[in-house]
Amino acid sequence: MDYRKLFLVEAGKRLKLAKMDPGYCGKHVSEKQSKAETEKYCGKLNKLQYLLYAEARQSLLIVLQAMDAGGKDGTVAHAMSTMNPIGTVVTSFKQPTTEDLKHDFLWRVHSHVPAKGMVSVFNRSHYEDVLVVRVHNLVPKDIWATRYSAINDFEKLLWRQNGTRIIKFFLYISKEEQLKRFAARLEDPARNWKISEDDYREREFWDDYMKAYEAVFRKTSTEHAPWYIIPANHKWFRNLAISQIVAETFEDMGIRTPKPQVDLELIKRQYHEAEEQEVTAKPKLARDGKLKMKK
Ligand code: AMP
Ligand code: MG
Repeated sequence: MDYRKLFLVEAGKRLKLAKMDPGYCGKHVSEKQSKAETEKYCGKLNKLQYLLYAEARQSLLIVLQAMDAGGKDGTVAHAMSTMNPIGTVVTSFKQPTTEDLKHDFLWRVHSHVPAKGMVSVFNRSHYEDVLVVRVHNLVPKDIWATRYSAINDFEKLLWRQNGTRIIKFFLYISKEEQLKRFAARLEDPARNWKISEDDYREREFWDDYMKAYEAVFRKTSTEHAPWYIIPANHKWFRNLAISQIVAETFEDMGIRTPKPQVDLELIKRQYHEAEEQEVTAKPKLARDGKLKMKK
């Protein structure tokens, strides 16, 4: 199945999240059954990411958005564990600091976009400025309403000026699944730290968030920076779909093994052939007896 086609939000398309199934897993039935396929994509992803790093000509930005307990951290762990850390950076965007709030909303984001050769993952992102900010009226409507086009311009700039491909994932879980995950966090001492009262308070605004997300998809899914809505109730299916989409995006980028910067033949002649002569000379020395030590 081509998940890049199936889960893509077409530019300008109006969609209703309520009509989509967060529990979808296609023909797959379990983690065990889908493991080989996921591993195939992870292998591809690993090879191409390292090549992207070596090529150092373009970059990839992966944006992750979800409701609380939607699986952002788990996705980061899965996707990143398949990549070479030398070419990756993860940035988590929390509530803006006082200093951030003294600037335009993209100020804190811009310095974290990927340099050539790198993959950056945004764990939450500039989209919070049209999600939580819109839901809670943190700034007046005439301010947040103009942010969609500011975001599109910003993403276009990254693409045009620096060859940054952008893919944006919404990890879509159901409200019931969220409650189940909250309960699991309460039960498991190792995960107690992940739960907060805020999570329950935000849950009350579920429908407003869904509306805000729908507006985001309609206004900011573009050809060079598409949104994908990933059914994410099943963590293993989410990992399968995302690894396929990332691997195939890499494939599309035309990443090439970089050409050597030096004359390989010359280096071979100068260093390796000289070394070979040294090596063949050694047994002769050994035959002729031990080297006499200078007194
Ligand atoms: P978490 O990801 O659960 O650690 O929480 C981070 C919190 O920061 C979430 O509640 C986000 O909604 C909030 N947050 C992130 N970016 C912004 C923003 N630009 N404005 C307001 N709140 C934000
Ligand atoms: Mg939270």
